[in-house]
Amino acid sequence: MQRSKELFEKAQKYFPGGVNSPVRAFGRVGGTPPYFEKGQGAYLFDADGKRYIDYIGSWGPMVVGHAHPSVITAVKQAAENSLSFGAPTEGETTLAELIQTHVPSMEMMRFVSSGTEATMSAIRLARGFTRRDRIVKFEGCYHGHSDGLLVKAGSGALTLGEPDSAGVPSDIAKLTLTLPYNDSEAVEALFQAEGDSIAAIIVEPIAGNMGMVCPEPSFLNTLRRLCDQSGALLIFDEVMTGFRVHLGGAQGLYNVRPDLTTLGKVIGGGLPVGAFGGRAEVMQAIAPLGPVYQAGTLSGNPVAMASGLATLNTLTEPDCFHRMQRNTQRLAEGLQSLANARNIPMATCARGGMFGFFFSTEPVVSNFSAVMASDIDRFNQFFHAMLDAGVYLAPSPFESGFVSASHTLDDIDETLASADRALAQL
Ligand SMILES: *Cc1c(COP(=O)(O)O)cnc(C)c1O
Repeated sequence: MQRSKELFEKAQKYFPGGVNSPVRAFGRVGGTPPYFEKGQGAYLFDADGKRYIDYIGSWGPMVVGHAHPSVITAVKQAAENSLSFGAPTEGETTLAELIQTHVPSMEMMRFVSSGTEATMSAIRLARGFTRRDRIVKFEGCYHGHSDGLLVKAGSGALTLGEPDSAGVPSDIAKLTLTLPYNDSEAVEALFQAEGDSIAAIIVEPIAGNMGMVCPEPSFLNTLRRLCDQSGALLIFDEVMTGFRVHLGGAQGLYNVRPDLTTLGKVIGGGLPVGAFGGRAEVMQAIAPLGPVYQAGTLSGNPVAMASGLATLNTLTEPDCFHRMQRNTQRLAEGLQSLANARNIPMATCARGGMFGFFFSTEPVVSNFSAVMASDIDRFNQFFHAMLDAGVYLAPSPFESGFVSASHTLDDIDETLASADRALAQL
């Protein structure tokens, strides 16, 4: 860790906390974040030459693994034709077509450069379309860092132990109503009283930013019904789950059709791409067709489109997603049985290439309070033992894990062997 330590120290001089995104600072678990020099498939190599099996995958985008040859070739080819035009290119339409094949609820869409931009724009669109101001979100869900969505947000904000952010005007925050995840009755009660003042419900259809929490069977259907009855729009924030839990996203997995969907992470394959889209009638309210303004100098950037397209083309090759899913399931089930064998309370889950585990006495963790009741100290110990063993897990119990299509069964088994030794030390 010597070289990483030096680099991290120097970075503190230029960046608050030494980083350009808070969770990278290892604040929750302590210690020095490794500085990476190279990634290859499922592996990362740090500045001190140590190898790790990677379960963060750049927080989701590296779904086919690092430096995948088809992605790198596509990016090089695009780059040679110029990095940007600020004008339409065919790649945008090709990527949109491919996305729509798998996520048909996105009848029309717009590309942006991050998940934050996608959710922020989807909320503005929902407000402009419904001519209402209030939105509903759920405790522990994270939808990027725009003002109206940093109200009891998870992820980085949670990791810092600050559920809200300074700098968000209370007049803006009060337009965001926050309810407990999976609490259909609470949503029902709210909509009974004031459904006709609500522009949209925004939800992570599988929550991934408070650790991984799955929806209860009727939860998403209840949201759909209440939106239909009240005229509010249902927004699925699939920035994390899109092309990750299923090729059709969580909406494909649970068969619930939202009005609007936001994507990010995987669809850029490691370059900055986000998207929002949905019902054509709603999307036509966006400029230049309609009155809701939204724009971006680098939106639909040709190199980023090439990266996203090559990533999705690889992921949709026969058996690729399925293999990733099988390996992910083996990892989650393996962890569960190792913990069971040592009488360590643990709750695991996995969907597609996404997994989560909590040191929790509840067999299923279904909302933010249950997440907060899990054993954080134990997580930290486990995290550091795994890091020492060369397994790179998210440095916070409030994040999800990601397996890529490059991970092999051997990688999973090596990880489980390390996990067994780590659990023995707890
Ligand atoms: C990561 C994430 C975002 C924010 O995306 P950025 O690209 O980091 O701005 C929004 N929503 C969800 C569900 C996410 O996981």
